[in-house]
Amino acid sequence: MNKFIERFKVLKNNRRVSLDYRAKFVSIDVNLFLLIMCIFFSVFYLVKSAWVLAAIAIVEAIVYFAFFFLMEEHYDAWVNMCFISILLFTVVNSLFTGWQAGFQNFLFAEVVAFFLPNIRSQKNVGKTFSITTLFVVVYMVLFVLFISGVDLKHIFNVEGVNVLYFVNTIASFFTIMMFAYVYSTHSEKRLHDLSRRADFDELTKIYNRYAINQILEKLISDYEYDHKPFNVAILDIDFFKKVNDTYGHNAGDDVLKGIATMLKKYSKTGATVGRWGGEEFVIITPSGVDKSKFIKDLESIRKYVNSGEFVSNDHRISITVSIGVEHYHEGWGAKEVVEAADKNLYRAKETGRNKVVY
Ligand code: GH3
Ligand code: MG
Ligand code: MG
Repeated sequence: MNKFIERFKVLKNNRRVSLDYRAKFVSIDVNLFLLIMCIFFSVFYLVKSAWVLAAIAIVEAIVYFAFFFLMEEHYDAWVNMCFISILLFTVVNSLFTGWQAGFQNFLFAEVVAFFLPNIRSQKNVGKTFSITTLFVVVYMVLFVLFISGVDLKHIFNVEGVNVLYFVNTIASFFTIMMFAYVYSTHSEKRLHDLSRRADFDELTKIYNRYAINQILEKLISDYEYDHKPFNVAILDIDFFKKVNDTYGHNAGDDVLKGIATMLKKYSKTGATVGRWGGEEFVIITPSGVDKSKFIKDLESIRKYVNSGEFVSNDHRISITVSIGVEHYHEGWGAKEVVEAADKNLYRAKETGRNKVVY
């Protein structure tokens, strides 16, 4: 038992390791759920002396138990086994216990399971339709058999069948709920991951150009209401090509990350910071921030970079930055305000670098 709990913990922890595992995590819960169901049916059938059904349930329980240890390497086998075994289990149990026992309702749950993330790697319309059709046919065949009074071996008295109906109805409802829950939370998580990737720069983990443009659009639309201008600065590393040429591209990347970390600290004042591209960064103040105060801050940033060093492996790298600033003017779009700041940056470069021009 301890070994089992240990194993369960390992699988649970593995969920966080990679996206692939997170996609597969549903299998751990589903496997546990199916195991518990099989144990319940085993005990129930043993108590009712329904030996054949008890044997089937016990074999299934053993298989699900074993898959806790085999699932990682034989994931596809596990998926196939689940689909086939639930189908057969449902059919066999229905035939022995009758329509009133409600086993057929598990077929609904199994159709939902087909849509679970990573349960089937290639989903397509044809496959989805064929699987659903198969379940519909099985369901209908069972129904026709029962209404035509084919003499199936109803092995339980009314109370026994009622207990099964009770359990099966609850279990199939909860199975559908569990699958739908897993499906929706997993999709939301993916969406969240994707939108993070769309808004943030991979290397520096600050906003990318796309996100910065969105933020500028928002500030411009706010301006229509409050008429409070915001300020935009473009910061460009001086002679950055030389850093790459001298210390290597990885060292260059470390410098970019260092600048981003510094800007992220500055963003605590309320400013928005992002990577505009290459070795250029954008800093945007909230609406209504005084331009001269912002210029003072930028001067401090410039001096801080000028007097410090970036460390990459064994290299200590000194750099300087040039900064162009402009505030928003009525009627401008995002493009115009960035261009205006860029023009001042160009002037900073033209007139000797390592300066703030406004
Ligand atoms: P200036 O002072 O005029 O800005 O000179 P500069 O060398 O900084 O400007 P230039 O535009 O000539 O070169 C920019 C360099 O930035 C060239 C490119 O290799 C480097 N660069 C752009 N993106 C990255 C990156 O993600 N990582 C690294 N390591 N280098 C990058
Ligand atoms: Mg540049
Ligand atoms: Mg540069």
